[in-house]
Amino acid sequence: MNTVGPMLYEGKAKKIFAAARPDQIVQYFKDDATAFNAQKRGTIVGKGIVNNKVSARLFRLLEEQGVPTHFLERLGDREMLAKKVTIVPVEVVIRNVVAGSLAKRLGLRVGDAIRPAIVELYYKNDALGDPLVNDDHLRLLNVATPGVLRELRDLAHRVNNVLQPFLAERKIRLVDCKLEFGVYHNKLILADEISPDTCRLWDMVTGDPLDKDRFRQDLGKVEESYQEVMRRVCD
Ligand code: UDP
Repeated sequence: MNTVGPMLYEGKAKKIFAAARPDQIVQYFKDDATAFNAQKRGTIVGKGIVNNKVSARLFRLLEEQGVPTHFLERLGDREMLAKKVTIVPVEVVIRNVVAGSLAKRLGLRVGDAIRPAIVELYYKNDALGDPLVNDDHLRLLNVATPGVLRELRDLAHRVNNVLQPFLAERKIRLVDCKLEFGVYHNKLILADEISPDTCRLWDMVTGDPLDKDRFRQDLGKVEESYQEVMRRVCD
């Protein structure tokens, strides 16, 4: 049995609990939603279940395709058993299509394809609002060596190369995706979650967003879109 121990950490969308083994944790997915550096808050009913199930499916797929992840087992609707990692405080964003902050920052047209995909690095720091950084900044901050940064970029492309075709078969366009990595036994592995909270997912037929942008921009049908992603990914 995987007994859940005390809570170790509470984030915006998840709680982390101790697991039976000291080198494992349980991620509990909440329905709480935040956007714009937590200035907008709300609830997306059922989101925790969607994000847990979608993440579990995609982590399993990545493992099958040789990408190391922290995923071990889905324990329940909202609980996932995972390896306990030391998170690298870098948000690795990989982009296949122009959207969001990229469109704003560089004046590019939303929806234009980006080939090959590009990677951006953000320093994970709430107080600073997760600034966009380059390799030199991360080295200056003692966050990552050039070798680790090379590996993060390589892993991000590998994740993208697995997810993009899988989602395309399900008529979902993977616009962009935010990935987090952790160190486990001296090895970098994918951690956190892969969900409509952390990826832009557009319906390939209608072009409609099926992700957290529906919440960010008050587009309506938020719950329905999350359910639709779960149906397409997990069925
Ligand atoms: N993203 C995320 N957490 C963040 C910031 C971004 O999961 O704190 C995801 C976001 O959902 C999108 C991708 O990373 O899929 C790229 O986001 P972008 O830089 O365009 O920022 P946004 O416009 O979402 O603020």
